[in-house]
Amino acid sequence: MAMPPSPVTSGRLTIDLAALARNWRALDKVSAGALTGAVVKADAYGTGLEQSSRAFYAAGARFFFTATVDEAIALRATLPKAHIFVLGGLYPGAASLYVEHRLMPALCSLPMLEEWLAACVSRNEALPAALHFDTGMGRTGFRLNEASIVRRQIDSLGFAPQMIMSHLACADTPAHEKNRTQLALFQSVMAQFPNVPASLANSAGLMTGRDYHFQMVRPGIALYGGRAVSGRRNPMSQAVTLEVPILQVKEARTGETIGYGAAYNLNRDSRIAVLGMGYADGFFRSLSGTNSRPGGKVAYRGKVLPIIGRISMDLAVADITDLGHDLPLPGEMMEVLGPSITVDDQADIAGTIGYEILTSLRLGRFTRHYVGMPEEE
Ligand SMILES: *Cc1c(COP(=O)(O)O)cnc(C)c1O
Repeated sequence: MAMPPSPVTSGRLTIDLAALARNWRALDKVSAGALTGAVVKADAYGTGLEQSSRAFYAAGARFFFTATVDEAIALRATLPKAHIFVLGGLYPGAASLYVEHRLMPALCSLPMLEEWLAACVSRNEALPAALHFDTGMGRTGFRLNEASIVRRQIDSLGFAPQMIMSHLACADTPAHEKNRTQLALFQSVMAQFPNVPASLANSAGLMTGRDYHFQMVRPGIALYGGRAVSGRRNPMSQAVTLEVPILQVKEARTGETIGYGAAYNLNRDSRIAVLGMGYADGFFRSLSGTNSRPGGKVAYRGKVLPIIGRISMDLAVADITDLGHDLPLPGEMMEVLGPSITVDDQADIAGTIGYEILTSLRLGRFTRHYVGMPEEE
């Protein structure tokens, strides 16, 4: 990675678009026989909606999923030809926005369906939409016993849904019995909507097996290099590198403490590096390191080093004593995520999931760099 010629004034988030494209193609291969969508909600999991969506499109993706209608409108401006589903469904009173931007709501309640059908009637057009059934996630979705009402309402208007879908609650644990239960319930819904394309699998569902693929799969986290299935080697390419600037390097003595609450007590003469990154950048306070509980990690030239003391709003401290004479200088960068530290390494320490680490970076004060834009196929 080339150093930028300008002075380092903030952390740097590097998104490898070639890795995103490679991940999409790899998943598309696994789900051969089904269409492979791309879930780009929350600013494409913190990587940047516009650039990342373009990379997936160039790799071959044509079906995209956002959470909100605002995200979908932004995506439409980027990809005029993509098919875009809004997972949050139809926002009340917003039907005309969907029509204007050619967006498809994942309808998930009877009032939503009614409002959409009313829009179809008033425009005298079968506007495309998906139907989302709740097979056990306990979140958005028609209840299963509403399937026959849904069926009757759409039949009476001659409305053909683009897709029926559901979402798995426990796909990250393939052996969980809930997966089989949801699969069976989804198949019972499918039987009531013959010839309508079906979609059940997120990243983990896609990796669990062909039974879950149906006509379309909806990967998110795996596209961005995150771990979808727990307890297994993650086969995806890491796509996100985060480096933060070193502000100060100094000596510290045995018995001195680091940061707020004096939560870390040095038990040896040490050398420390103060880093320009804190919880306001999305570096969770739960990555603080105390003497009894190790904290998050950073790396310098491939050597992994511990964060010590509490994470502050804008600062964190790393113990660099073990670097010996390979001393970093202020203005150099420390890796927070990248080749030495995966998103999931950091998430495990913070007691969260890679999804939350990635989507929190979006809020940070980092400059974003994009490398490796793939050629369109
Ligand atoms: C977020 C989401 C996905 C993608 O899930 P990943 O675990 O990131 O692959 C798929 N479907 C729905 C309904 C979602 O909300």
